[in-house]
Amino acid sequence: MSSTTLRIVAQRIAEHVRTHRLNNIRVVLHGGEPLLAGRDFIAEIAAVLRETIPAGGTVEITAQTNGVLLDEELLAVLLEHRIGVGVSLDGPPDAHDRHRRHRNGQASHSAVARALRLLGGDRFRPLFRGLLCTVDLTVDPLSVYENLLSFAPPAVDFLLPHGNWSNPPPGRCEDPSVTPYADWLAVLFDRWYPAPPTRIRLFEAIMDLLLGMPSSSEAVGLSPSTLVVVETDGSIEQTDALKSAFEGAAATGLNVRDHTFDLALRHPGIVARQVGLAALHEDCLGCDIRDVCGGGLYPQRYRAGAGFRNPTVYCPDHLALIRHIRAGISSDLSRLRPPG
Ligand code: SF4
Repeated sequence: MSSTTLRIVAQRIAEHVRTHRLNNIRVVLHGGEPLLAGRDFIAEIAAVLRETIPAGGTVEITAQTNGVLLDEELLAVLLEHRIGVGVSLDGPPDAHDRHRRHRNGQASHSAVARALRLLGGDRFRPLFRGLLCTVDLTVDPLSVYENLLSFAPPAVDFLLPHGNWSNPPPGRCEDPSVTPYADWLAVLFDRWYPAPPTRIRLFEAIMDLLLGMPSSSEAVGLSPSTLVVVETDGSIEQTDALKSAFEGAAATGLNVRDHTFDLALRHPGIVARQVGLAALHEDCLGCDIRDVCGGGLYPQRYRAGAGFRNPTVYCPDHLALIRHIRAGISSDLSRLRPPG
């Protein structure tokens, strides 16, 4: 992103903050690999955003990185500019290096582990926001969990692999009685609950929804989406995960030079992620866990020729995982109830 585009983005965010009287916004630097932008430009991003956003509002800035470039000098810049850090780590070396290699084919786990030891140390610990791990069914869930915990993350996000009805994720077959992702995550839930050593956002979001609270995750629940993506050329896009549906699926045709973020709210794809129940397939409308599942992550509902008005391709896994978590907490809640 050029400095000129950065300044326009900051002004658009400021305009949105003023229009809607927001007092807290989150800016996530992501990519590709955002730290490739270099220390000077990362410092400039933080300075420009904080100068431009109206007084009284807080701007929380985070970089979501593969961790490979995180060294002491760069972390010092992030600390000076109060930029939090989330790191992608897929578990032990054999699991992580299967998907995340340097361009020359070299494994990257040891570099990430080195960075995480720095990030977890006393000086930089306040920057550590958590780990992001994509589920790989071929790896033992507990070995992944123990490896992630060895870095003492304040939170862990488990992501399901990209996929949809036309391009199913690995291991997700047509048979609804097969629930490999729910089975994998249920093993983690049973180890994690009831004495969590760290936050696992997916489990927390499901538990919140089961207890009648709003969703804190796009992956579950019916809360309106609250994010928009600005590409390096200033184009305004929908969530990146939509790119897994088809080429151009994330595009809105808008850009920060000519359009406000409010205009993006009128784009049909974004409207569909704002209207909750009205966007759901009839199977979801009649589903007993509808308000907790929410039909699943929007990109994962796609089927070529039928669009996005479908249950998520992970429907059987959502059903099984949510029921598993509900059973886990229901028995504890009933024990807590006073007699009578
Ligand atoms: S579990 Fe399946 S049917 Fe029920 S709301 Fe979720 S996606 Fe829809």
